[in-house]
Amino acid sequence: MASLDTIDNFIDGEFCTTDDYLESYDPSTGQVWAKVANSSPKDVDKAVQAAEKAFPLWSATSVDQRSKLLLKIADLIEARLDEFAEVESHDQGKPVALAKKIDIPRLVHNFRYFATYALHDVNSSSIQIDASATNYTVKCPVGVAGLISPWNLPLYLLSFKIAPALACGNTVVAKPSEMTSVSSRLLCRVFQEAGLPKGVVNIVYGYGWTAGQALVEHPRVPLISFTGGTATAEVIRKSAAHLNKKFSLELGGKNPAIIFEDCNFEKCVETTIRSSFINQGEVCLCTSRIFVQRGIYEKFLEAFVAKTRSLIVGDPKDANTFCGALISKQHRDKVIGFIDEAKKGGATLRCGHSVEPLELPDRCQNGYFVRPTVITDLPDTAPAMTDEIFGPVTCVVPFDDEEEVIARANSARYGLSATLWTENVSRVHRIAPKLDAGTVWVNCWLVRDLNMPFGGMKDSGTGREGGKYSTEFFTEEKTICIQH
Ligand code: NAD
Repeated sequence: MASLDTIDNFIDGEFCTTDDYLESYDPSTGQVWAKVANSSPKDVDKAVQAAEKAFPLWSATSVDQRSKLLLKIADLIEARLDEFAEVESHDQGKPVALAKKIDIPRLVHNFRYFATYALHDVNSSSIQIDASATNYTVKCPVGVAGLISPWNLPLYLLSFKIAPALACGNTVVAKPSEMTSVSSRLLCRVFQEAGLPKGVVNIVYGYGWTAGQALVEHPRVPLISFTGGTATAEVIRKSAAHLNKKFSLELGGKNPAIIFEDCNFEKCVETTIRSSFINQGEVCLCTSRIFVQRGIYEKFLEAFVAKTRSLIVGDPKDANTFCGALISKQHRDKVIGFIDEAKKGGATLRCGHSVEPLELPDRCQNGYFVRPTVITDLPDTAPAMTDEIFGPVTCVVPFDDEEEVIARANSARYGLSATLWTENVSRVHRIAPKLDAGTVWVNCWLVRDLNMPFGGMKDSGTGREGGKYSTEFFTEEKTICIQH
């Protein structure tokens, strides 16, 4: 292990060693490529102490000053976009080209957006003439924010928490996923270079059940923003039930696409390919149940399967690669398990895993790759139709009418996003409000506006992020009533 790159915790503005390290794998080769601090509760406590110490100064820093620092951070990241994208791909398995186009630009955008949003976030006021009273509110930062993020969009999702937390005057202890910790070190270096005061952001690495759990259970961390799996959120909720913390929980999905006969067919097929398989299907918003109105079912399937077959799976470094490697061997085996189970249950595999061979360059022979797979002829109750697979697998089934498809789309335990394809505007207004989803995209997918609330219902989470929703979460709004 001696020659491996070592990722140390970032506490009080410095990188510091710990007693234990875990192995981080390059998903495209299956080789260990870094060792990452495996923090103990003692390390987490040290980070919380640093964040507490930095809080009085940071929370009293003017919004203008905080904003300037966040803008500087955005500029520094942007200047190193290529380096960030390469490390993010190496760590996560996604194509470098995708990280350059989506992950890192959105990381930059998150910092810029919240830096400038904070400048315009005004307080509300109300005058009661009868009571001779003037009321106004002040928004106070909450304190040390505990931020826990997953591995699929490592820096993009981490910054969607760090940027608003800082803009609102909180200090931070963040724990990225143990599987994708390396790229956040680049972020820590940018924080140092930008002159972010020591202790304002602290990053601890390690497993969820040790470092993550210690952060969740820390009595002096009053709010937790968590993005990850629904099962993990259940553990987190239970372990902090006695602590009365603020929680924001962004969880899993089983997102439907509903495609009507009157859709813009070409755009629909093209976008549904992206919504099913981008980032190897490892996006919480990816489509994994495609309901197609019976009149165009066969036509859709033929076009969709043909395009899926043409997607290039391979080396994330190759500019032509569409699907890179899945995050880990365990995750790849889980994804394949769903496909095999569907097949055993009588479903048809139209393309993908076990249908066409995987042709990989020598460098990637031991990587965790799965061909994009399309499954048909399965009931809505099959595990591939009900459970989050979180990989390049999607199921296509026919439907006949509106009421039926709404009920079937809503039958999942999740409620994160849905996609609706129709040129009939009345139908859009009839159906969209009835879908159990935090976001309904109509004739598009993943068009993100950070001013809008983002989050899920049912088992997809609690709370909303974005614009004023993030600032509400990261502040305590206090009413002050003065009688004169
Ligand atoms: P995960 O729940 O396994 O891990 C997420 C994070 O939580 C990691 O940092 C992990 O170390 C930590 N963790 C694990 N156990 C913990 C515990 N007991 N206490 C505190 N922290 C703990 O999720 P994952 O596998 O990293 O990510 C995939 C999941 O994330 C999928 O379900 C996906 O849908 C979801 N996700 C949701 C969104 C969203 O915005 N709704 C976005 C991305 C991913």
